Amino acid sequence: MVDCSYCGTELKPGTGSIFVKKDGNAVFFCSRKCRTNMLKLKRSPRKWAKEKEKHKKKK
Ligand SMILES: [Zn+2]
Repeated sequence: MVDCSYCGTELKPGTGSIFVKKDGNAVFFCSRKCRTNMLKLKRSPRKWAKEKEKHKKKK
């Protein structure tokens, strides 16, 4: 089992996509959206996802 490198969602085998970076590390994405965000916007993924979760819990 792997987690989406962007949002942290658990990926089931056979779903999502794998991207191998120039440095040889593989990253996993649950969806195209996550892939695009990660590769184009280069946001700090885990941080961003955690902040989002915090807001959800508060409400
Ligand atoms: Zn994701």
